[in-house]
Formats: sequence, structure tokens, C-alpha cells
Amino acid sequence: MTEKVRCLIIGSGPAGYTAAIYAARADLKPLLYTGLQMGGQLTTTTEVDNFPGYPEGVEGPVMMEDLRKQAERFGTDIRFGIATAVDFSQRPFKVTIDETKLIEAETVIIATGASAKWLGLESERTFQGYGVSACATCDGFFYRGKDVAIVGGGDTAAEEATYLAKLCKKVYLIHRRDQLRASKAMQAKVLNTPNIELLWNSAPIEVLGDKKGVNGLLVKNVNSNEERQLSIDGFFVAIGHNPNTEVFRGQIDMHENGYIATVPGSTCTNVEGVFAAGDCQDHIYRQAVTAAGSGCMAAIEAERFLSL
Ligand code: FAD
Ligand code: NAP
Repeated sequence: MTEKVRCLIIGSGPAGYTAAIYAARADLKPLLYTGLQMGGQLTTTTEVDNFPGYPEGVEGPVMMEDLRKQAERFGTDIRFGIATAVDFSQRPFKVTIDETKLIEAETVIIATGASAKWLGLESERTFQGYGVSACATCDGFFYRGKDVAIVGGGDTAAEEATYLAKLCKKVYLIHRRDQLRASKAMQAKVLNTPNIELLWNSAPIEVLGDKKGVNGLLVKNVNSNEERQLSIDGFFVAIGHNPNTEVFRGQIDMHENGYIATVPGSTCTNVEGVFAAGDCQDHIYRQAVTAAGSGCMAAIEAERFLSL
């Protein structure tokens, strides 16, 4: 049976829950589908130290529970389910959930986030949140004065290596080729930072550790097959992100890299009444607070759209 709603929110990260808080308080009676990862990316991390309002820091899953409860307090209908198909060609917009249920929505807020790419090593998964991270800005602080390694050769890896070098004693930057993909300016920064050691033509093959977390990394030179064991406390993966936007392809405008295109300074997409917030439309900042901020913007824009 088709269900009709004024505001449908897709995604339960900081963007989706914040949109829900604002939409519910504006009496839009939002319906929110959580997707597979209820609470979003922050449920995969331990301490979040940079979200305003938590002076002692907060566990990622706890913070997302707090946000969920706050969204529910104002009446958001939160349900487990995945948007599996959409039709934005006319209003009301049609969104299929779990391939079976049809929702007709006057406005849609897309907040499906992005997923970090991982190397795919079993040991990388074992130590995720215990020394393995995909976000240096988020977790670098925990490795002050320690030795860390980072893999990747793009702007993110270069930027994060430089950021980590300011906090850590030593940073190993591991790249699979003999040339960085990063811009010349970023390359120069990396090469001019004395506590960054570049391991060219190299690939991590195993993250080492124990119950306390990561304590080493096994790296192989892909040309000589020679192995080297690094003694480190943190391992950062910076090999890119994928926005979770596949289901919207062909329905709204996207950039070449799959991020949803929004009108600068707003969350408006090219389809009036469809808004995009958080990491699914942001390949630059990718922080919880910026995601939450744009979730707020999306709800305000949806409310204004409905009252036109
Ligand atoms: P996400 O948190 O990615 O949430 C996306 C949501 O969309 C999920 O609930 C998912 O289930 C849902 N979804 C996806 N597809 C569908 C679909 N088809 N249908 C329905 N739902 C769907 N940022 C910080 O500011 N501080 C930190 O300390 C920090 N630490 C981090 C640590 C790690 C390990 C990682 C990976 C990221 C970290 N970040 C941190 C970044 C932060 O998590 C993201 O910027 C933020 O979560 C983005 O929020 P979002 O709401 O846009 O999307
Ligand atoms: P990216 O440009 O796609 O670079 C990914 C890097 O990871 C590449 O060097 C790639 O190696 C490597 N890589 C990919 N898969 C790998 C694997 N399985 N094993 C080992 N290495 C792997 O991604 P990004 O660095 O996240 O940048 C994304 C976009 O954001 C870019 O357009 C970038 O310019 C932009 N960005 C800009 C800034 C800035 O301007 N300050 C900062 C960050 C990001 P290869 O080089 O061999 O392919």
C-alpha cells in the first residue's frame, strides 16, 4: 500500500537526524529511513572529540543514539529500511523502500552519506576503531607524539599526512606507485615535511596488533617483494570515498565523482523539492558538524518549499 508523507528523509547519520529534528519541529511530520547503517559512519568509530557540545568527547555510537532520541522526541517516525528505487520525475516523489513499500513524498531530503574505501585486509577490519581509521582529522589527535602510517597517494592522503605530521612523531606515507597523484602544491608540502617518510611502490599487507590495538604494520615493496615491519600505533587509510548515491543516478544531477550537485550555499538539487545534505553532496569537508549543519539547512529549505 502507498503511504503519503510531507517530508521523507533518507539516511540516519548526523545530516539525516538533524534534518529530522528541524523538520519535526516545523511540523512536517518527517518519516526517516535509516538504511543499513543506523546512525551512519560515526557508529564505526570510538571517540568523537570535535563535535561541539561534548566537552569530554563522546563515543560515536552514543552520540548517534543521542541524535536519534532527539529526532524522536519531536515526533520523527524512524524506520529501518533502504531506499532501493526513486522516481523524481514528478510530484509527489516516489521512493521504494526495500523493493516493496512505496512512499509518496512532497519533499525528499537525501542524507545517504559516503563510505570510505578500505584496502580489504582482514586485519584492517579487525582493528577498525582500535588504531585503524579512515579519518585523520577525526582521529589523529589520539596519536599525538606517536608513530603512525597512512596509505594513499592523492590529495587526501597528502593533506592528512601533513596534518598528522604536526601531531605525531613520525608519519610513514605508503603509496603503491613511485609518484603521488596529489596536486603539486600538496606534494611539495609532503616532501618538505621532515617527519614524513615516503614508502614508494609499497602496499600494506597486514595490520599488526593485540587486545590494546594496533602496534605495527607489515608493508611489502611491490617491485622487489621485500617486506618491512613498521612499529606504529595508528594506521590511516586515505584511498578515497564513495558517495552512497547510486540509487539516485539518472534522477538528479551529480558531479562526475558521484556526489550530488547542490546549488552553492544551499541544499537544493536540480529537482525542486528534493534536497541533499551531508557527505552525499560534500566531498570537501566530510565532518559530522558540517553534515549536521547542512541537514538543518535542508529541513528549513523543505519547510519553505512546502509553504510556497
Ligand atoms: P553518514 O554518517 O555516512 O550516514 C549515512 C546514512 O545514510 C546511514 O545511516 C546509512 O545507513 C544511510 N543510507 C545510505 N544509503 C541509504 C539508502 N539507500 N537508503 C536509506 N538509507 C541509506 N567526523 C567528525 O566530525 N568527527 C569525527 O571524529 C569523525 N570520525 C570519523 C571516524 C570514522 C571511522 C569515519 C569513517 C568518519 C568519521 N567522521 C568524523 C566523518 C563523519 O562520520 C561524517 O562526516 C558524517 O557521518 C557524515 O554524516 P552524513 O549524515 O552525511 O552521512
Ligand atoms: P583520489 O584522488 O582518488 O586518490 C586516491 C589515492 O589512493 C590514489 O593515490 C590511489 O593510487 C590510492 N589508492 C586507491 N585505491 C587504492 C588501493 N586499493 N590500495 C592502495 N592505494 C590505493 O582520492 P582523494 O585523495 O580522496 O581525493 C578525492 C578528490 O578530492 C580529488 O579530486 C582530490 O583532488 C580532492 N581533494 C582535494 C583536497 C584539496 O584540494 N585540499 C583535499 C582532499 C581531496 P593511484 O594514485 O595509484 O591511483
